[in-house]
Amino acid sequence: MTDHHAGKTSTDNFEVLLSEEQIQSRITEMAAVISNDYRGKRPLLIGILKGAVIFLSDLIRNLTIPLEIDFIAVSSYGDATASSGVVRILKDLEQSIQGKDVLIVEDIVDTGLTLNYLVDNLSSRQPRTLKVVTLLDKPERRKVEFEPDYCGFHIPDRFVIGYGLDFGEDYRQLSDLRVLNQ
Ligand code: 5GP
Repeated sequence: MTDHHAGKTSTDNFEVLLSEEQIQSRITEMAAVISNDYRGKRPLLIGILKGAVIFLSDLIRNLTIPLEIDFIAVSSYGDATASSGVVRILKDLEQSIQGKDVLIVEDIVDTGLTLNYLVDNLSSRQPRTLKVVTLLDKPERRKVEFEPDYCGFHIPDRFVIGYGLDFGEDYRQLSDLRVLNQ
């Protein structure tokens, strides 16, 4: 506890793309829209582990409707198969979603393959409604057509870290979103 800047060295090469204030203020706006759209309902929010954990926890604390949460963990196979959209479920939901109003919560949409697969998979379990909210979207990188129902920010085609997003499991705890300086 002697050096207050001890953590800074490791993020020196990263510049802030979205500040904590920008992120929090956008989440407040998104939560107002979502609370309004789901008025009178009790949606099940499904967070995609691990990246969406921080976004989900900030989002739900701004929602004004009753809700439930659950989590799903997926991994795409290596590059070759990832392009075919093959995604493996590492940890499945704890419950049936039949008849429920499901809102998938994701940190970032990139190629679209993960969400394309998950929407297909979860649709087959017959939810009443199924929508997707993502904090970030890199539309330039799409390999399959995919449009989230709610999106926080469109960002350029850069590798981002922080606010739940990792680089080799590091940096998830940063309150802002950063890009590697090139
Ligand atoms: P997609 O299937 O849309 O290509 O990939 C979505 C997943 O790829 C995200 O959930 C995230 O785990 C990872 N991802 C995509 N872009 C980035 C990025 O810029 N930074 C980090 N840390 N992960 C990313």
